[in-house]
Amino acid sequence: MRARGVEWKSVRLLIVDMDNTLCDTFHTLSARQWELVASSFEKRGEKDIARGIRSRFGRESFVKTLRELHLTDEQRRFAVRVYDRNPVGSLRLFPDAHALLELAVPKALLSRGEPALQRRKIRHLGIARHFDDIVIVDTFRTKTQAIKDILKRHEARPGDALIIGDRIEEEIADGRRLGVPTALVRRRGWKPGKHVVEPDVTVRSLETIAKRLRPVARGGRTSL
Ligand SMILES: [Mg+2]
Repeated sequence: MRARGVEWKSVRLLIVDMDNTLCDTFHTLSARQWELVASSFEKRGEKDIARGIRSRFGRESFVKTLRELHLTDEQRRFAVRVYDRNPVGSLRLFPDAHALLELAVPKALLSRGEPALQRRKIRHLGIARHFDDIVIVDTFRTKTQAIKDILKRHEARPGDALIIGDRIEEEIADGRRLGVPTALVRRRGWKPGKHVVEPDVTVRSLETIAKRLRPVARGGRTSL
């Protein structure tokens, strides 16, 4: 684990991403979803789009891919509709997610995606009971405002919270912009995106974070 500056003892609110942070969306759902979207465009005769989608799989997020392909509104809506059609039954929590979920520290789940699909995932994973707050940001929005709103609702200053996520260009960059400390979770076979900012800490397992925060949850102190 590499650490720059998380003051573990100050953390009293966790803002946690879901996909590829708590659950392995990439290896279970995404591969099928991307292929389904690509082949659906192919069936409409839009082969360049299909090629563009396939070539970016595993390199860019779905939203960024749609943006880079400069799709029309109709094409974008079509892509998202096809993407969201997939059943979520194959989605599993990473084994190390339990340690974090069970921590007695207030938590907000902050997920981005099509709200109905994200709610289906939350229900399937059975994780709602671990969160004091659940916020779903629409597919084409950023998490910035939602993070501000969560801090306000929990009467927390930016330095009181810790953002935990897998995407440098999204929640990690948001955290840096808003002065909220960030923990990047690196998952096997999953690229966190362009290294636009440095997370305050990088871990391979949520257990590492849970271990640091357990004394805080008990009202004790900890240090790196
Ligand atoms: Mg994610």
